[in-house]
Amino acid sequence: MQNLLDLDAAALTAWFAEQGEKPFRAKQVLRWMHRSGVADFDAMTDIAKSLREKLRTRAVVLPPTVVSDKLSDDGTRKFLIDVGNGNAVETVFIPEDDRGTLCISTQAGCALDCAFCSTGKQGFNRNLTVAEIIGQLWQANQALGAVHGDERVISNVVMMGMGEPLANFDNTVAALRLMLDDHAYGLSRRRVTVSTSGLVPVMDRLRDECPVALAVSLHAPNDALRDQLVPINQKYPLKLLMAACQRYLEKAPRDFITFEYTMMDGINDSEAQARELLALVRHVPCKFNLIPFNPFPGSPFRRSSAERVRRFGEILIQAGIVTTTRKTRGDDIDAACGQLAGQVQDKTRRTAGRVIPLQEIRT
Ligand code: SAH
Ligand code: SF4
Repeated sequence: MQNLLDLDAAALTAWFAEQGEKPFRAKQVLRWMHRSGVADFDAMTDIAKSLREKLRTRAVVLPPTVVSDKLSDDGTRKFLIDVGNGNAVETVFIPEDDRGTLCISTQAGCALDCAFCSTGKQGFNRNLTVAEIIGQLWQANQALGAVHGDERVISNVVMMGMGEPLANFDNTVAALRLMLDDHAYGLSRRRVTVSTSGLVPVMDRLRDECPVALAVSLHAPNDALRDQLVPINQKYPLKLLMAACQRYLEKAPRDFITFEYTMMDGINDSEAQARELLALVRHVPCKFNLIPFNPFPGSPFRRSSAERVRRFGEILIQAGIVTTTRKTRGDDIDAACGQLAGQVQDKTRRTAGRVIPLQEIRT
């Protein structure tokens, strides 16, 4: 049985050809699945009954299951998505005045083990499939009641949930292509962002194969510190990373890179470090997004004070770099950056060290 949610437009067309069907059938089914959120072939009314029969025997439209759906006081909504074998990943919807952003996961766990990241601390479980990645958008649209016509509650997607998207390149790109496809979600390249910790060779592949907006997790102004905070830096140090950012911008849909910088008290938040950062990025058109560290059980770091974040940002702003500080959203439901999949409903049983076993969520 082929899960049709695992296929982007090209793969779906090839699959229909293998079944002896015309390419426009693939397009029709793509629209039903992704634009109308329909999973049942019988509801695809403009498709001949005989073809529907055939599809039923050979294929399914199977999104991952939502096992919990929590609403924060600030409107942030967190979905827990079953990815089989008793594990779950998280998807977060963040409504703002002018847009609705969905933050999606690409892996269960993450192998890169950044020092300050709850997902990294749980180790790597596995890559998500295309159906599981695009299925997060599919399910969120269903839950938000946005599956009909042109209603667009989700205007932006950021791959900033669990996992390193570029370490799951093929599935990430197939899911990106569906997001961008006019017959599926039709999002603009500028409104879809991949966040990476800096897998330099894969940044080049993304640029060549599917350029979208890029966020790079920087977190340190020099190699000595970044080697400790973001261990992949030992393999792809800052000089290589900055050069990769410049190459990316040659084909990017936006003319800047967003640097994410998680602010940890006494670690990377001094004024001297802000100035060192300016020297580091001087050849890369960029914006900065400062993320006050979100604590999780067992983490040795503390969040920088609002005053230190402000002073740090001020130095960047004075140098002409657009700098925003990420508001902590949804932390009452443990949906803030870096808190994903650490916690279950019962806060006294917080377990940051792994992918959440489902039985724990259900109890
Ligand atoms: N793997 C990708 C995307 C997922 S993480 C990456 O590293 O870029 C999304 C962002 O949240 C990254 O910038 C990450 O460094 C940051 N982050 C991770 N843990 C955090 C924490 N505890 N507090 C604040 N930000 C965190
Ligand atoms: Fe992985 Fe990103 Fe977390 Fe680092 S910050 S461990 S790359 S998810």
